[in-house]
Amino acid sequence: MPNETSTSNFIKNIVIDDLETGKHSGIITRFPPEPNGYLHIGHAKSICLNFGLAEEFNGKVNLRFDDTNPVKEDVEYVKSIQEDIKWLGFKWSNLFFASNYFDEMYKRAVILINKGKAYVDDLTADEIREYRGTLTEPGKNSPYRERSIEENLDLFTRMKDGEFEDGQKVLRAKIDMASPNINFRDPVIYRIAHIAHHNTGDKWCVYPMYSFAHPIEDAVEGITHSLCSLEFEDQRPLYDWVVRETEMENVPRQIEFARLDMNNTVMSKRKLKQLVDAGVTDGWDDPRMPTISGLRRRGFTPKSIRNFCEHIGVSKVNSMVDSQYLDFFLRDDLQPKAPLTLGVIKPLKLIIDNYPEDEIEMLEIENNAKDEAQGKRLVPFSRELYIEQDDFMEEPIKKYFRLFPGNEVRLKGGYFVRCTDFVKDESGNVIEVHATYDPETKSGSGFNARKVKSTIHWVEASTAVPCEFRLFEPLILDDAPENEGKHFLDQINPNSIEIVQGFIEPTQIKDAKPFDKFQLVRNGFFSVDDKYTTEDKLVFNRVVSLKSSFKMPK
Ligand code: ATP
Ligand code: MG
Repeated sequence: MPNETSTSNFIKNIVIDDLETGKHSGIITRFPPEPNGYLHIGHAKSICLNFGLAEEFNGKVNLRFDDTNPVKEDVEYVKSIQEDIKWLGFKWSNLFFASNYFDEMYKRAVILINKGKAYVDDLTADEIREYRGTLTEPGKNSPYRERSIEENLDLFTRMKDGEFEDGQKVLRAKIDMASPNINFRDPVIYRIAHIAHHNTGDKWCVYPMYSFAHPIEDAVEGITHSLCSLEFEDQRPLYDWVVRETEMENVPRQIEFARLDMNNTVMSKRKLKQLVDAGVTDGWDDPRMPTISGLRRRGFTPKSIRNFCEHIGVSKVNSMVDSQYLDFFLRDDLQPKAPLTLGVIKPLKLIIDNYPEDEIEMLEIENNAKDEAQGKRLVPFSRELYIEQDDFMEEPIKKYFRLFPGNEVRLKGGYFVRCTDFVKDESGNVIEVHATYDPETKSGSGFNARKVKSTIHWVEASTAVPCEFRLFEPLILDDAPENEGKHFLDQINPNSIEIVQGFIEPTQIKDAKPFDKFQLVRNGFFSVDDKYTTEDKLVFNRVVSLKSSFKMPK
């Protein structure tokens, strides 16, 4: 059984080592999202790792918005990212914006030029690509590579002053066009972009490239361990080069780990934005989205997500994680605390013909079958009930032990009832089932003269509260929607949401408010939706169904 104690991983071992050897007296990590969308469960992995390390080793963690790219960056995203991190239960030590370091970055670029380690290049983007060479062939030097330091300083200043058009010139690090590591072949570190920046406005028309900006951001903040995903492994030598050659005082260490990838979804803000923009989902917080806000709205808890992240662990190998793994941790969290409740999500009227008319009896039913301490509650019962449509069959299939003409079942917490008849509408749908009950068989009475093979749940018709239930299937049909050249937008599941109208027993939900969780007997864990719930009607999202054949991987 999973527990909450933290597990060991290779990054933690590096930290322990660095503290023991005195390389660092304390650690500082950072979480550096680009504010171009809402956070997803993949980010949760990175958050749990960075904030978790800081918590465990009494260090610090910075939330840094990586806003060096002057594209439209929305305050909405800056806000939602902070909310999501807080909701997960983490606190940052400092909040920074990378764009506040533009002056520092510019200064560091000038240091490079002065050392003869950067030059202004007039080649076009296409030419630069062409000159770069391939994995098997070395690149060749740009004809502008040998410009003098004075000329480079002059041109870079004029780039900054807005004398040139976008793309006309770039600043490149002068490293080695023949390096086996393509990232070392004179990477572009500054480009011209006449675009206003959300923070710095029109002050700049040159912007640093990510691979130059990021190491400087880390170093400026004194980050000790800079954790990033595996695809940056090849960039690590350049990261170290930038820190060294720009003469940064603090030397952060980049460590890579495998990104989280899950089946039947896409895991990138940019792609998730396409789903939102195309109207495939009801916003970023649609309960089918893998965003943190989507998971929250669906009914996942911070604890379930944190336990999930802890248990998938950190590794150097990319792999696909089954979404049922996350469901497991939700059940694990809610099982002991979500009140057990009778609710019928696809109702069918059941009439007990021999039960007195106009009588309502209060039955005692346990609040949590697995925890007696949670006590019992009184649930109304009468002659007219609702049961699930699935719990009746006109002609039973093999091994069907629920209601069918002549068969007897137990009503949970109540009596045995035997099906006597049923009524159909004009189109042949069963709309009413009739039964008789046996007063001797009341639950708790010790009756054992005969047995039934099945217990079904129900709600009393006149007191039940009408509710809406939203049931979900994966948003994307394919397990791995982007393999073999496929596009995820072509694989949207047309049946990813089913909206049904049903009923819940009145007792448990009388004070229910958004995000409250319930365990509906046999139907799963449900959470009150904050967007569609009104004064008059509770709308529930099914978080997960109850049972799963899923086994925790060892
Ligand atoms: P996206 O494509 O979703 O925008 P990104 O990697 O560009 O992903 P950033 O906002 O730049 O996202 O990421 C902030 C941090 O979150 C980075 O350190 C990044 O490595 C980490 N991260 C992003 N996606 C994942 C993932 N799927 N698994 C683990 N870490 C992730
Ligand atoms: Mg990104």
